[in-house]
Amino acid sequence: MLDSLPEQSSLRESDLWVCSSCIGDTFLKEKINEIGKIQKCFFCNTTDHSITIDELADDAVHAFERCAHPCNSPADKEAGVSPEIAVSQLLKSDKRIGEVAFRVLRQKYADYYIKELKWDVFDPSCLYKIAFTFVNMRSAYWDMACCSLKSKSRFFNEEVKKNLESIFKNIPPSALKTVRCDSDYRFFRARIANNEQHVCEILQRPIEQFGPPPLGNIFGGRMNPVGIPVLYTALEEDTALAEVRPHLDATVVIASLTPLRDVTLLDLTALGDYEIDESPFNPHMTEELCRLSFLQEFSKILSRPVNPAIDSIEYLPTQCVADYIANSFKPKVDGFICYSAMQQGGKNVIFFQDSLTIIGDDQPAISNVEFEDAKPWNPEDIDTYIVHYGPEIEQRQLYKEPVLRLINRDITIKKITGISYSYDNNAINWKDYIKP
Ligand SMILES: [Zn+2]
Repeated sequence: MLDSLPEQSSLRESDLWVCSSCIGDTFLKEKINEIGKIQKCFFCNTTDHSITIDELADDAVHAFERCAHPCNSPADKEAGVSPEIAVSQLLKSDKRIGEVAFRVLRQKYADYYIKELKWDVFDPSCLYKIAFTFVNMRSAYWDMACCSLKSKSRFFNEEVKKNLESIFKNIPPSALKTVRCDSDYRFFRARIANNEQHVCEILQRPIEQFGPPPLGNIFGGRMNPVGIPVLYTALEEDTALAEVRPHLDATVVIASLTPLRDVTLLDLTALGDYEIDESPFNPHMTEELCRLSFLQEFSKILSRPVNPAIDSIEYLPTQCVADYIANSFKPKVDGFICYSAMQQGGKNVIFFQDSLTIIGDDQPAISNVEFEDAKPWNPEDIDTYIVHYGPEIEQRQLYKEPVLRLINRDITIKKITGISYSYDNNAINWKDYIKP
C-alpha cells in the first residue's frame, strides 16, 4: 500500500494526480499533455499537465486487455510478472504508479470482467507477460482481393483499388528512390543466345535486342498484360541472368544500362522501412502493426513463384499493382523496384512505357561481329568476339524520348557451366494398406 498518502481522509487513491513526465509511454504522455490539467503530481511533486489515477485506470484497462497475457505454462510463469508490475510496464512508469493504478482499475472493472468473462482478469495472484499479439488479416484481405480480381471483376475492381490505395498511402520517404544520371547505377538486361550466330546478331543490334519490343508485339508477363510494354531490368548482373532462366551450356548476353536523366523509382522492397513507436494505449496500434508487417512482406508476395501452367491468370494481381503504380501513384515514377522471383535477394527494376526507351552509347552501333575460334572447354582459352563498329541503328518509332543508355563496351557474355537448386524436403507418411 501507499505509505505516503496525504493526511486528508477525503483523498482517495483514484483522485491522485499523475503528471505526463511520470509516464514513459509516448502515446499516453502526449495524450496527458493534450488533455491533462495543470496540477501538482502526487508522485514527483512537479506541477505539470496531469490526469487522475481514475482516468489513468480507464486507459490502462484497455492496454491491459490488449497486451497483458496470463502465463499458463511453467515456462511462461518463469518470465511472468504480477499484474501491478504489468501495469507499470505498460505505462513505462515507476512501480508505485503501477501499483496504485492497478488497485484503482481492479476496483472499477473487476466485477464487470468477472460477469462478462466469468473469470477474474485482474486476479492479483495471476502472472502476466506483456506482448503485442495480433492476427494479421492484411495478407488475407490482399489474397481475397486477388481472388476477386481473377474470378469476379477485372477492370473496375473496388476491392483491389481499396487495397492498393491503402498500401500506397503515406509510404516512407526512403521508398522513393532517385537514381541520378551521373551515378554509377547500372540496370542489367540479359538475353539467351541460341547459337553463335545469334550472339553476333545481339551484338550487332544491341538496341533492338535489349530494348522494348515493337508496340503491337508485346507479350504479357508478371508485371505487364499483353499489349502494354514495360522494360524488365535487374539491379544485379546475376539477377538479370537468373531471370532469363538459362539452361546448362546456354550462352547469355548481358547489357548494362545507365540513366540519361534522373530516374525516380518506387522501391517496393522498402515500403515497410519505417518504425512504429509501439504503444498499448494507442487504439489503432494493432491496425498499424498489421499494415507494417504486411508492407514488409508485400514485395515478397509479388515475387511468389506462379504455376507456369496457369500463369496468365496468376499474374493478374502483379500486373494490377504495376498498372496502379504506373497510372495512379503520385508522384509519377519512371518504374519500380521489386524482389526477383528467380534470384533470392536479387532485385528487379521495371520501367514503365514512358521511360523505357534505350539508345546506344556515343560509339556508333555495331555492324560486324567476328567470332574468334577457341576451344570452349579449355579454361585457359576464352571465346573472343571481335566487334567492328558501323552506322547507327535507327531508333524505335512510337516510344518516347530515350531514358536509358546502353554501353556497348560493357556488354558481357556468359556461358552457363552449372545451375544450382534450393529446395525444402517434404516428408512422406507411408501407411500400411488395410484391406477393406
Ligand atoms: Zn509526476
